[in-house]
Amino acid sequence: MNRTQVSGMRPPLVPLATLIGRELRNEKVEIPSIKYGQAALAKKGEDYFLIRSDCERIPGNPASSFSVFGIFDGHNGISAAIFAKENLLHNVMTAIPQDIGREEWLQSLPRALVAGFVKTDIEFQQRGETSGTTVTFVVIDGWTVTVASVGDSRCILDTHGGVVCLLTVDHRLEENAEERERVTASGGEVGRLNVYGGTQVGPLRCWPGGLCLSRSIGDMDVGEYIVPIPHVKQVKLSNAGGRLIIASDGIWDALSSEMAAKSCRGLPAELAAKLVVKEALRSRGLKDDTTCLVVDIIPPEYSVLPPTSMKKQNKLSSFIFGKVSQNSTSKSTSKRSSVGVVELFEEGSAILAERLGKDFPRTYSGLFRCAVCQVDQPPNERFSVNSGPFFTPPSKAWEGPFLCTNCQMKKDAMEGKRPGRRTVST
Ligand SMILES: [Zn+2]
Repeated sequence: MNRTQVSGMRPPLVPLATLIGRELRNEKVEIPSIKYGQAALAKKGEDYFLIRSDCERIPGNPASSFSVFGIFDGHNGISAAIFAKENLLHNVMTAIPQDIGREEWLQSLPRALVAGFVKTDIEFQQRGETSGTTVTFVVIDGWTVTVASVGDSRCILDTHGGVVCLLTVDHRLEENAEERERVTASGGEVGRLNVYGGTQVGPLRCWPGGLCLSRSIGDMDVGEYIVPIPHVKQVKLSNAGGRLIIASDGIWDALSSEMAAKSCRGLPAELAAKLVVKEALRSRGLKDDTTCLVVDIIPPEYSVLPPTSMKKQNKLSSFIFGKVSQNSTSKSTSKRSSVGVVELFEEGSAILAERLGKDFPRTYSGLFRCAVCQVDQPPNERFSVNSGPFFTPPSKAWEGPFLCTNCQMKKDAMEGKRPGRRTVST
């Protein structure tokens, strides 16, 4: 048998590198492109934003790239907003285990976001400054969008089907009964401002401090029950893409989610952001800082977001989050399903134990690593392992992963079990 005959009988072997290359190229074809625009009008100058379109899961590997967008609406000064803008991304990323694949990375994001928000809050409070900030922080990896937020800067998603959905929850005491209950149960008082003659004015606030928000980063002059634990939602878009509008309350006090989405449909992101700000200004005037980011997640074969398909618009926005469609035929035949947004994760609890999970503490070269701040402690200093005997908190045993002394104190303070800051900062 000569060589020609052999090669005619068997398919030639493909080197592994070529196979991986093909896979990467295939994967690349499926990755959407990101285009964004930003616009803002300042009244007090306390809004900040973050745009990082060049992050890499694996440093040096462009195939592992992801983008981050954030809005930080400061109050009582600007230092908390600036601090969060500069430190939050790093604090979230260091809470993700090393050497894991993309799917695991996406799955560990919600928990890392909780750890990163709490760590950033602790670090800022240790500086002893009094300001605070809302944070709406968006991570886009391929078609998967993960949003973490505290406060009232919203992120909405305008889907290809023309259905608009809210990816954040407003942490305003006025509008959130569950949060009012939580704050009251942890020792805060919720009420309006009293003016002459006992007349109550303005929105519901938390006392002491008088903050209208129930969650934020910073705010050391307000009770610890104003927590930095974010609401987190993770969704996967269909490969028809979609548009995110992330903005401070200067926009949302003037425009509903639908109005904001409609005001800029069909326009490129940069122009869209300007138009949303203009529309808010037109309807309400400049009453507050107004900042808007528009982020388009664009199918690979398009240069701009394809026009919204409005042929079957219905008002049942919950429908698009109804798990994966029962009608599998329509799903597989129509790749560009107008209702193809799948909810992967949503959790908004303010209780740290419920957010960090109940994993047994991870040992790391003989040390225990704090699940919040990622600081290592030698085993003999640990006192909050989930089995309990090392630590006896006021009410019940901590059922979460290992926390260092500082983070354990923060956790207790947030739950109203400790006075908090004064203890933490010593
Ligand atoms: Zn810690």
